[in-house]
Amino acid sequence: MDELVKLGDKTYVLQRPVNIGFYLLNNQEVCLVDTGNGKDYGKIIEKILENCNWHLKCIINTHSHADHIGANKYLQDKYNIPVYSSNVESYFINNPLLEPTLLFGSNPLKELQNRFLMAKPSNCMDIANLNISGLSVVDLKGHSYEMIGILTSDNVLFAGDAYTDVSIIEKYAIQYIFDVQNYLDTLNYLLTTNYSYYVPAHGQIEREPKNTILENIRNVQNIEKRILNLVENTINYNELLTKIFSSYHIKINSVQYYLISATIKAYLTKLNNENKIVLNFTEDGIFISKVTENI
Ligand SMILES: [Zn+2]
Repeated sequence: MDELVKLGDKTYVLQRPVNIGFYLLNNQEVCLVDTGNGKDYGKIIEKILENCNWHLKCIINTHSHADHIGANKYLQDKYNIPVYSSNVESYFINNPLLEPTLLFGSNPLKELQNRFLMAKPSNCMDIANLNISGLSVVDLKGHSYEMIGILTSDNVLFAGDAYTDVSIIEKYAIQYIFDVQNYLDTLNYLLTTNYSYYVPAHGQIEREPKNTILENIRNVQNIEKRILNLVENTINYNELLTKIFSSYHIKINSVQYYLISATIKAYLTKLNNENKIVLNFTEDGIFISKVTENI
């Protein structure tokens, strides 16, 4: 029980490397927000349910990344409960091979089909038609295709991976992002909100996360600036990647390579949408150039 933090009448958090939300639907029944990165989380959750004499009623996943849905199958097998997420994320939760497929861009290498990128499948439904008294869905897309946050009647927001602790930014430099513009729009939206507590999946619970969110925005802006500097003179795509890996001191393995390169592509799409860069596809590879402004 010592790990469970109470944030309101009905809202609790299990503070771990992946924070797990518990919301009391009534005296005994609880709904989980995310399930952590594997079976171990399932066992801890199971113990908490036993100790508190709570019955698990359902699971809501903020998004489909393996570290958020890792104990879905374990809990679903044990308690026979429904799992909900947004429409697109639910496809990925039902078919976890889609996650490494998205990153690899084709039938993924065996070494990408690991527990960091691919959880066990669980049966997930679209949350759109679900009406749970006391919980509402907040659109937080950007980090992933259709990520959602969950707001509880205690005015507590479970923010998924909308932002992370500054210490995590410092450690990893480049955070995985699917759509950079949506990611920034989501962060700017969060700055306008006034919830009692904000619970990011990775990091500290904060009452006022403004500075943390601003730091996440600054980090994105800095990465964007660095890419624009690197494409000042036309650069080959592979060379751009190599320069980014070395300038951020990123240690590359297969998972890191595909996570970071997918994220860099998301930045390129944003810059291309804004007519700041062009991409030329040739026999010698992809060449990226900065668009010179007409005076
Ligand atoms: Zn994620």
